[in-house]
Amino acid sequence: MKKALVCGAGGFIGGHLVKRLKGEGFWVRGVDVKSHEYSNLPADEFILGDLTDPVVVASVLDQPFDEVYQLAADMGGAGYIFTGDNDANVMHNSATINLNVAAQATKVGVKKIFYSSSACMYPAYNQEDPDNPKCSEESAYPAAPDSEYGWEKLFSERLFFAYHRNYGLNVRVARFHNIFGPLGTWRGGKEKAPAAMCRKISEIEPGGGIEVWGDGKQTRSFLYVDECLEAVRRLMDSDFIGPVNIGSEEMVTINQLAEMVFEIAGKPANIKNIPGPTGVRGRNSDNALIKEKLGWAPSIPLKVGLEKTFQWINKQVEANKEVAAV
Ligand code: NAD
Repeated sequence: MKKALVCGAGGFIGGHLVKRLKGEGFWVRGVDVKSHEYSNLPADEFILGDLTDPVVVASVLDQPFDEVYQLAADMGGAGYIFTGDNDANVMHNSATINLNVAAQATKVGVKKIFYSSSACMYPAYNQEDPDNPKCSEESAYPAAPDSEYGWEKLFSERLFFAYHRNYGLNVRVARFHNIFGPLGTWRGGKEKAPAAMCRKISEIEPGGGIEVWGDGKQTRSFLYVDECLEAVRRLMDSDFIGPVNIGSEEMVTINQLAEMVFEIAGKPANIKNIPGPTGVRGRNSDNALIKEKLGWAPSIPLKVGLEKTFQWINKQVEANKEVAAV
């Protein structure tokens, strides 16, 4: 039986990954500084531990795992990443985790390790036109990410590639573009745009409105979590080390995203655009390389993924109202 370690298993993508790996017959150890909030994970072992501590990393990464997935990071949506208030923590915590994990994975001789970078590492100067953002893998340099979160991702993907070159660490690196779906953070300040919109639109009465940061014309694409995991598993099973985009090419404006959620909720769209942290003007995945190397591209339309996400968040909102009423 193959053995896998999932770092960040208590998080959104890590939690889904544990389930997927168990479904594929892996023995799985998960580690995170917190338990999963919304799911009882089927991990064979789940260890609560802080991966910024090298002693903890040595104790969880104590054997030559067949596969390690390094997803742990100090991160959140625009309200967390783009205000500047969390920059030092984001850089220090995530870089320390990656420094610890890369060194220890090399020391114990893990067979393969996946690192989740982010589209936030792409240069801001290529993402000023909302209709024509450029995010092909080779366009990363000269580097100019628009956030410290993006700079840390760039540093850490380079770190994993340096371990690959100097110590033969068998790495795979992907740049995720806005992954969304059920069982993710949906309130509290770290939630991302799709989850925040689902929550707000679930909470309002028909006719009520929501506030959306920026002029609403900034563009993004969003990838449903099941597709993200399919791409990650294919990358791990391939010989291609990356970096490669894992994202959707179905680009929408943020207001269009909100309108879709209003439609799913069966409520009339009512959007007020207000000043707020927005990041770059436009961003879309470029899937030419993943198609070439893995012969794969996502196929689930945004609307379908949003329907599933809305249903799950709507249930959380309803359950919360019931608790408040008791
Ligand atoms: P998430 O915040 O839900 O998961 C990250 C997990 O890391 C959390 O459970 C958190 O508790 C854990 N963690 C943080 N600090 C830790 C520490 N010191 N020790 C142990 N665990 C710690 O985020 P996610 O959406 O599941 O993202 C997973 C990875 O994918 C992250 O590296 C993120 O940067 C990357 N990524 C995500 C997206 C996205 O849209 N979700 C986009 C680009 C990149």
